[in-house]
Amino acid sequence: MNLLSVDEARERILSKFQSVSTETLPLAEALRRVLANDITAADALPPFDNSSMDGFAVRAADIADANPASPRRVRVVADIPAGAAPTVSLTAGTAARIMTGAPMPAGADAVVPVEETDFQNRGTGSAAPEFVEIRSAVGAGGYVRPRGSDVRAGETVLKKGRALKAQDLGLLATLGFAHLSVYRKPRVGLFSSGDELLDVNAPLAPGKIRDSNSYMLAGLIESAGAEVVKLGVAKDNFGAVKSLLDEAARVKVDLILSSAGVSVGAFDYVKSALESNGSMDFWRVNMRPGKPLAFGAYQGIPFIGLPGNPVSAFVGFEVFVRAALGRLGGLLVSGRQTVRVRSEEEILSDGRESYLRALIREENGVWVARLTGHQGSSNLLSLAQADALLIIPAGVKCVPAGQEINAWIL
Ligand code: AMP
Ligand code: MG
Repeated sequence: MNLLSVDEARERILSKFQSVSTETLPLAEALRRVLANDITAADALPPFDNSSMDGFAVRAADIADANPASPRRVRVVADIPAGAAPTVSLTAGTAARIMTGAPMPAGADAVVPVEETDFQNRGTGSAAPEFVEIRSAVGAGGYVRPRGSDVRAGETVLKKGRALKAQDLGLLATLGFAHLSVYRKPRVGLFSSGDELLDVNAPLAPGKIRDSNSYMLAGLIESAGAEVVKLGVAKDNFGAVKSLLDEAARVKVDLILSSAGVSVGAFDYVKSALESNGSMDFWRVNMRPGKPLAFGAYQGIPFIGLPGNPVSAFVGFEVFVRAALGRLGGLLVSGRQTVRVRSEEEILSDGRESYLRALIREENGVWVARLTGHQGSSNLLSLAQADALLIIPAGVKCVPAGQEINAWIL
């Protein structure tokens, strides 16, 4: 078996995935969902010129000489609260009281904030004065938010393939998108395998450990925007694995994900079960942790078999499965955010592409990283403590202290 690079393995996997179908959702249900088309604004934002302050809409030329020592007095001819549609048109020497967000009246080209006037009665329901003294000049356009200054009509504001954030929902609401076309959530059938595995409720027994991968991987799947279909734990025999695979096919998942049973060992039945109605390859990937990786299909559904060791399973998910779920779910960009970090210590590696658990902190504007103790692939505590994975490229055997490398933020 030849050794695959991480990139080669990921490309091979990605080539088998395409995006799932789309569905229409009400805006309120669309958080974190992935847009299935570009969003183009039908209206300009703001839709009309409006005031950014409580104050007086004026003609800037009328008050060009105003200052505290010699204020300008103008006649107040209208009162424009937010929500009003003013019909007045300002002529020379007149003004309109105006509230934040209220439309500018015709003829006005600036707003004087109430603080710059002699009108200090700002209580709710207070009547507009008959005259107001303007104590400072405001240039044309001052304190006015022009129509279309945020968004132009016809502008593409969000791209297909974007996972919607809360602020996007706000933007979509203001543009009137009550329903959205999004990719449906990819469904991932998840199972663990191994005779040694107990459920979280069970007391420990000789030779047994609790199944941690099911819980960790379910969390990762959800974090990638997909839905988990829990298939349970397969015992180490052909029939047990096959019946879970059949169940995955019956409930129509988009990906079957398992952990363990992919090291070439006497007790690994995953391969023969898959091959009873599909195919499976063992790959040796030039990475650490997580060298063995299984990839295949069962009844036409893609299958990824991660290593059993929890940290290997985690890294395998981040390196391969997150990208596959991104492709399935229509995401334009998937994967953890990458930052440059400076290693505080010398790091030795064996030349494989290595993903190391680390804590990062900011020091004088740079990110500095320190490994979180023992890097064994079964050590979950150091994974839980880490807030980043340092990536040591293939071929590198030593990262000297002080050198910068890439890291994924966890
Ligand atoms: P295997 O790939 O089956 O040889 O498993 C490799 C290691 O991972 C063994 O120490 C297993 O006990 C451990 N392991 C396998 N599955 C899980 C799981 N679901 N949760 C925690 N550890 C596991
Ligand atoms: Mg096993």
